Amino acid sequence: MTFQDILTASGFTQSELEGGALDVHTPIDGSRIASLQTHSDSQVLDMIVRGGTAFETWRKVPAPRRGELVRLLGEELRAEKENLGRLVTLECGKIYQEGLGEVQEMIDICDFAVGLSRQLYGLTIASERPGHAMRETWHPMGVCGVISAFNFPVAVWSWNTAIALVCGNPVIWKPSEKTPLTALSCKKIFDRAVARFGDDAPDDLLQVLVGGREVGDTLVSSPDVAIVSATGSTRMGRAVGAKVAERFGRCILELGGNNAMIVTGSADLEMAVRAIVFSAVGTAGQRCTSLRRLIVHESIYDTLVPRLKDVYSGLPIGNPLEEGVLVGPLIDAGARAAMQSALDQAQSEGGTLHGGGTLADTYPDAAYAAPAIVEMPGQSDIVKHETFAPILYVMKYSELEEAIGIQNAVPQGLSSCIFTTDVREAEEFLSDVGSDCGIANVNIGPSGAEIGGAFGGEKETGGGRESGSDAWKGYMRRQTNTVNYSRELPLAQGIKFDI
Ligand code: NAD
Repeated sequence: MTFQDILTASGFTQSELEGGALDVHTPIDGSRIASLQTHSDSQVLDMIVRGGTAFETWRKVPAPRRGELVRLLGEELRAEKENLGRLVTLECGKIYQEGLGEVQEMIDICDFAVGLSRQLYGLTIASERPGHAMRETWHPMGVCGVISAFNFPVAVWSWNTAIALVCGNPVIWKPSEKTPLTALSCKKIFDRAVARFGDDAPDDLLQVLVGGREVGDTLVSSPDVAIVSATGSTRMGRAVGAKVAERFGRCILELGGNNAMIVTGSADLEMAVRAIVFSAVGTAGQRCTSLRRLIVHESIYDTLVPRLKDVYSGLPIGNPLEEGVLVGPLIDAGARAAMQSALDQAQSEGGTLHGGGTLADTYPDAAYAAPAIVEMPGQSDIVKHETFAPILYVMKYSELEEAIGIQNAVPQGLSSCIFTTDVREAEEFLSDVGSDCGIANVNIGPSGAEIGGAFGGEKETGGGRESGSDAWKGYMRRQTNTVNYSRELPLAQGIKFDI
């Protein structure tokens, strides 16, 4: 299929792809595939008003009926899985298998949200006063602004949107300026679900805002955007979090990670090698949950590291649309320059580099790079920094406590894992004195979370939770109700106040 075929299969007409100021390039060969119109500040403000109007109607629609819209969205996504998966590959460069996986994740969250739409449980609480009932109920919040990053261009939107919609909130989505086409394709898919749903869906339940951080800033600063769910770098989160806090808005931050694996002396090394390679080089090291730090017990270091170097030297790198390729390109030249600069710094901090070269033969305008392993004498400055590229820093340890200390001694706190066959080691890693991350796994890598669990991390990762478990509570407001069905008016805490 040509690039044009992929765009046509996703329903884009030529006129939609031309004439705007925002150039969209495919990382596959660096060529321009579209020039899109961007939204102005005043258009963003208008969208927020229209989102508010949609909220007035949508919050009155019963939650299970709202779930029906999400069920239809899931059906439309199933029908469009291959086309959207291919478009994800074209626009962000991850291999087609991962593009398909991303769409499957969208389908899974829709299924989850449909079930949730018949739950949204509150609590009943014991009251100290006779003839009184206490309960906790959950209510829609208002317009939900979703800001997403280039590396999961559609899944992150769906995690937020499927849940926000069943919770009664319309969505305004600002995708990454590097991946607006996948967002516009999702809008087309969503509109098909709305057309099948019926008249009780208001207009503007989902609006897509095309542009860079300036339009994102307008969205974030508006007091009429009740929730801002922002996924991206820690730098972005710092700016967005402060803006939303200033106006006492609700913020869900999903920011950078610096994920580690501890491989203990008892680990199943064959399993560990497969998990390491998938987590470190998948999506060319551009997952928030990519494995970036490997902390290896000294007893197996000289077995594991040569084995990894061997696998790395044979990795199929190339066009992510081609079957058999496991590593696609970096998003752009800036990402490759950042990778090179990190490798230079790592070497100047005592690291020994294996791999990591630039590959420019086939597509000189694209940013392909060979994944790198860097053996480090310790956790130096560069190792504590998230470089969004396939660099795996390897360090040695002798005691588990020391390994957990290294794992936790970075500013980020997203995902972590341990490979061990010793139950004591596994349980210690998961205990109060173990990993300090939002995600901690045993005998699987740090990436590839399932949607049933809450996703997110601590410290500079931002503290937000999305997707499964009770993450839906981030999209609703909690209300505590006390109902007096007695004929008296007793005050709480036994206070006397007779008039
Ligand atoms: P980025 O921070 O450059 O951009 C992310 C989004 O934020 C884009 O849509 C961008 O336009 C917008 N943005 C940036 N500054 C803004 C501002 N001041 N106000 C409003 N909007 C602003 O990130 P990226 O390069 O697209 O993505 C890579 C980063 O995202 C990595 O750090 C990665 O770890 C992180 N990420 C985190 C998760 C997670 O769930 N924790 C998931 C995916 C990506």
